[in-house]
Order: sequence, then C-alpha cells, then structure tokens
Amino acid sequence: EELVKRSFVVLGGSGDLTGRLLLPGLAELFDAGVLDEEVDVLAISREDWDDDAYRDWARRRLDAHAPHVPAGTRARVLGRLSYLRGNVTDPADLRRGLDRLDDPPVVYLALPNTVFRPTLEALAEVGLPDGGIIAVEKPFGGDGADARELNRILRRLAPEDAVFRIDHFLAKQTVLNVLGLRFANRLFEPVWNAGHVESVEIAFDETLGLEGRAGYYDTAGALRDMLQNHLLQLLALVGMEPPLTVDAAGLAARKGDMLRAVRPPADPAAGSVRARYTAGTVGERRLPDYAAEEGVDPGRGTETYAEVTVTVDNWRWSGVPFRLRSGKALGADRREIVVRFKPVPHLAFTDEDPEPDVLRMRLDPDGIALEVNLNGAGDPFDLERRVLDMALPPAGLSAYGLLLREMLAGDAALSISAVEAEESWRIVEPILAAWQAGEVPLREYPAGSDGPGPRTV
Ligand code: NAP
Repeated sequence: EELVKRSFVVLGGSGDLTGRLLLPGLAELFDAGVLDEEVDVLAISREDWDDDAYRDWARRRLDAHAPHVPAGTRARVLGRLSYLRGNVTDPADLRRGLDRLDDPPVVYLALPNTVFRPTLEALAEVGLPDGGIIAVEKPFGGDGADARELNRILRRLAPEDAVFRIDHFLAKQTVLNVLGLRFANRLFEPVWNAGHVESVEIAFDETLGLEGRAGYYDTAGALRDMLQNHLLQLLALVGMEPPLTVDAAGLAARKGDMLRAVRPPADPAAGSVRARYTAGTVGERRLPDYAAEEGVDPGRGTETYAEVTVTVDNWRWSGVPFRLRSGKALGADRREIVVRFKPVPHLAFTDEDPEPDVLRMRLDPDGIALEVNLNGAGDPFDLERRVLDMALPPAGLSAYGLLLREMLAGDAALSISAVEAEESWRIVEPILAAWQAGEVPLREYPAGSDGPGPRTV
C-alpha cells in the first residue's frame, strides 16, 4: 500500500463520533501501514483541554472502541494527536489550526449538522490549503434548502472530487457487495427489473434505544437520521443502472439518476408510518417510554420508527414498491435488503404453492442468502425451500477505517455527490412536511416488539 502524506483535522474532536469511530479508524490505518506514521492529527473543539488532556480522553476512547488494534499501535496514534481549543465557526480559530499543519489537510466536520453551515462559511473565509480535502458528516444539512446552501459553499471551497459527503454505510461489506453481486455476474442483472421483481425492502431494525443521545436524536428522528441518508443510498445502489466504471464519477452518475427517479408517496398517510416506542423489554433490558427518556421533549413528537414506500419512475422499476423502514428498540436486529421475485409464470407442480424466490443481503454480520424452491428429499415431486447462504467474512477494516483510507488516497468513490444529497432531501421533504402538519398520526409500539404494525414483508 502507498503511504499517504496528509494531515488530519477533526472539527468536533471531542465528540462521540470521533472517539467511537474516527480515532479507531485511524488506528486501524496505522496498524495496516496505510497511514504515514508521521501524520499530524489535530482535534478542535470548545472543550477546555490541552494536548495531554486530549490524549487522556482519546486513550480511553481507543481502549473502549479499538481493542482490536494492538496497544502499541494505539500508543503511537496518541503520540500523533494534538489539540486546539477553538470555535470552528470562527475563521481566526480555524486559521490558527490550519497554520499548525505542514501537509495538505483532510478537514473533517465531525459536528452536529446544524453547525455545518457556519463552519463551512468560516472555512471559506480562511480558504482550504492546496490539495486539501473536506469531509462532511451526515445528515447533510437539516433540509433541502440547507443542503443546497452547503453545496454552494463547498463549490467555492474545493473541487467536487475533494469533497466527501460521508455515509459510512457505503463502506459496509454487504453494501459494496451489492455492486459485485449485480455487476460482476451474468445471473442477476437480467431479472433485476419490474418484469421479475415484485418488491424491494430495505430494513434497518435496531434493538438499541436512545442510549442517551437525545440531544441529537430528538431533533432528528428516524426519517432524518436513517432513511434520508443511509437507506436511500442503499436504494440507489440496489436500483441504479450498471455504471460504466466503478469509480467516483461512474457511481455518482448512476446513483444520482436513480434518486432522481424516486417518487415519494403521493399520499403520505397511506405511504408512510411514523411511530415511537413506549416502555418495554428488549432482550434483558427494560426501556422506558421514549417520551420519558432524559432530554426528550415529548411535545416534539419525534419518531423512533419510520417507514416509507416509494416508487421509481423509470423503465426498469415502474410499478415496483421500494419499502424503507428503520426503528429503534425493536425486538430483533434486522438489517437487510430484500429483493422479492415474482412467482413463476406457470407452476407445473400440482398441489404446491411455493413462495417465490427471495434474495436477502444482510448487514452486520454481512451475508447474502438466496431462497429458492427445489425438489424435496421425500416425494420426488414435492417442493422444498432451500437457502443458499453465503457469509461474507469480516473486512480487515471497519467501515470508517475504509472510508478514511479512501479519503486519504483522494478517491471519492465512497462519497455522496452533491446531486444525491439534494435529491435525497427532495424525496423525504414532502413526508416530513405531512408529518409536521399532523397528516400522519404518530403511532406507538412497545419496546421489544416488531414495530407499530403487522410486519409487511
Ligand atoms: P457530538 O457527540 O455532539 O459531538 C459534536 C462535536 O462537535 C463535539 O466535539 C463538540 O464539542 C463539537 N462542536 C459543536 N459545536 C462546535 C463549535 N461551534 N466549535 C467547535 N466544536 C464544536 O456529536 P457526534 O455524535 O459525534 O456526531 C457528529 C456527527 O457525526 C453528526 O453529524 C452525526 O450525525 C454524525 N455521526 C455520528 C455517529 C455516532 O455514532 N456518534 C455515527 C455516524 C454519524 P464542543 O461542544 O466541546 O465544542
């Protein structure tokens, strides 16, 4: 692997994301020898810390979240960290930070999305050093207008291939394998269309509840936190036309086209579900009502479960429903893309009514399962359901490790383009508006249950 000589600036260096995922990702890259060991990592936040206090904090976070990286490597990472107390929306503070660095920086906005705009405005005043890269976390802004404004500032700051709109789902093993499965095999693509596919479901059910993150989550909710970005990216990969090349330009073009074809439900009351959990037991854990969790404003009516059915107005997918759902505090972790095929045109087996074929692409742990009908072991003409199940071995790097590696190499293939970010808001905005206007009732489901309604797929 080629070593990359860049510096790394984390705006929001004391945040949860930095300690849980970014620093561990960097540590993995040290361990893999991908990152130049002389790299400078500068963290900026308003916390009243010096370098030593920051390293203490980072040590504890790495111990907790990067136990898979050898202790010696973790210590080397800590040795490269420095800290600047500052306000990232103040150009003078940003300039002080950037002036400390010798190599072209990756400037990573590990900040709440409400701070993206003033931060990018401040950065635009200072200017991005030559060869610099900007990474912006998700959700990309608070709504469509905000996303367009962020893109406008970013265009002034850096060329598109130096901008990373982050969605770490794009670096998950199964998500990358959507590309391999679809476009490196003859078998699937000919039936990957409305002629053969009945429906597509993209589900991300979590057993975790709020876990103390009300400050962020209660102003976001499941639709903004999960569907607007992660699940629409999965939809784009599952539904897009074959790219000419699997690279930043090829993927952005095809994902962009797919998202532009997506139609939100004409009637949000029929095509979307919003709900929040009430007290219940998930596994061994007893969870309180979401509305009673610390920091939650019940009057806001924030949903912890969102379900939306969209259609895709193009030749390939006309009439096929794509159902997206995600919820917290559900009874089981179920994270998968499910492609349900149509029944065979004529079933020659009498007295049988088999389920049509189903392809499941599972995330965390990753795997792909194809459910088909075969002749059973007993009566030779009885049918039996069989599953071809392929576990995908864990990747060497975590999703953030992989994202950071690609970023340091200057390759934006795993980034979201400006068009995709704006289109994703276009899709969810009418639903958000209908929810806000009270056109769709806020339903409830007990923690540990299957969600607010009968499971649809
Ligand atoms: P967080 O824990 O609230 O951290 C936010 C960080 O930003 C803190 O370091 C905070 O420090 C800093 N900050 C806020 N305003 C600032 C300002 N004006 N100047 C300087 N620093 C400022 O949030 P988070 O969970 O890390 O999330 C950060 C981003 O990552 C969000 O966009 C989120 O959606 C995304 N993300 C998070 C996770 C996760 O697991 N946490 C996963 C995926 C994506 P001070 O207040 O001390 O300044």
